[in-house]
Amino acid sequence: MDHFQYKNGELYAEEVPVRRIADDVGTPFYCYSTATLERHYQVFADAVSGLDATICYAVKANSNLAVITTLARQGAAADVVSGGEMKRALVAGVAPGKIVFSGVGKTEDEMAAALRAGVLQINVESLPELEQLSRIASSLGIDANIAIRVNPDVDALTHEKIATGKSQNKFGIAWDAVPGAYALAAELPGLNVTGVAVHIGSQILTLEPFRQAYGKVAELVQSLRAQGHDIAHLDLGGGLGIPYEDETPPTPKEYGDMVTSVVGGLGCRVFFEPGRLIAGNAGIFVTRVLIVKEATARTFAIVDGAMNDLVRPTLYNAHHAIVTVKEPSKGAARTEMEVVGPICETGDTFGVPRMLPEISPGDLLCIRTAGAYGAVMASTYNARPLVPEVMVRGNDYAVVRERISVDDMMAHEVIPGWLKKAAE
Ligand SMILES: *Cc1c(COP(=O)(O)O)cnc(C)c1O
Repeated sequence: MDHFQYKNGELYAEEVPVRRIADDVGTPFYCYSTATLERHYQVFADAVSGLDATICYAVKANSNLAVITTLARQGAAADVVSGGEMKRALVAGVAPGKIVFSGVGKTEDEMAAALRAGVLQINVESLPELEQLSRIASSLGIDANIAIRVNPDVDALTHEKIATGKSQNKFGIAWDAVPGAYALAAELPGLNVTGVAVHIGSQILTLEPFRQAYGKVAELVQSLRAQGHDIAHLDLGGGLGIPYEDETPPTPKEYGDMVTSVVGGLGCRVFFEPGRLIAGNAGIFVTRVLIVKEATARTFAIVDGAMNDLVRPTLYNAHHAIVTVKEPSKGAARTEMEVVGPICETGDTFGVPRMLPEISPGDLLCIRTAGAYGAVMASTYNARPLVPEVMVRGNDYAVVRERISVDDMMAHEVIPGWLKKAAE
């Protein structure tokens, strides 16, 4: 459930009419609901309350400071995959001791920054990375608490671009190499091996892939312990899917019960890294119709938002529900229309043609489930400004990121000296 509903014939974000925000900040923009973020966090926390659980919000899903701060106030820890995300989490008030640093490729600077900050755990994904981290930790005189991310070779049955747990994916240490990696880690100076980590992908819609992966990991924990490794942490990653259209993913409760039954007996502190589940349905993307164009083969609603603002439809063929901000009357006639942006690419679309009520230039459209992997993946292609992000709380709202103007963008560009000379 989310807090974007029709009231009085208009779409509201909690108690604020979306139209009012559009009039105040201009379109397009992202809009997040505090109540939805908090609710999603709490539902997940309740679902895993039978475990010694730490919920590390995966910052990459939506790294706006107001979003991270909202979740941090709920008690969330954070999962970060870059130095930039770590900085954002720290600024948002997540204690260093509640930050897990993940990622398949970390720079030396990022490793050093994570160690100096005193993060809870660094998840290591390769043997060279173990050696590199050992070297950096030793030179700084700071022991690195690490988990080793393993690749369980499990098919997450999700979009190929977001499946991460198969042996052909770049992530984690290959299953057969895992015992050797732990043996190496135990030998190397500066490393304090505390756990096992796994993350098999995103937008996973059945429990089975998780069950398989976690079952393998549970056995691994026992065999590593038998080899003398002290495994106290189990990081189970994120990946639980959400409904974009008519999917029926497992509920957090079903997921939590499964996890509890598979790993509950190990006595580990269990980390979860949900991203999409927390942020996805807590955000919408609002755009205004520029033109309705009747082409030969189909009708296009050309809007002021584009693939650079929300890339998921073109990148993953992802479905996002599209609704009008004005509530259509019951039984209103609908016609088939494709909602597209103004960018000169046929891929600049918000999805396959939809049945939409009558639409005129100036109308507002809401693209739902845009809170995760939306604003964070935006680019400035076509010299389009990064759009504002707005957060609603009850009947209040705030612009939590201003529009980044083209002037702001150009201010970082430099004309080299040889071009400054007058043309000859
Ligand atoms: C992307 C990612 C997540 C979050 O995935 P969701 O599908 O958004 O829950 C968690 N952990 C790691 C290591 C990731 O790369």
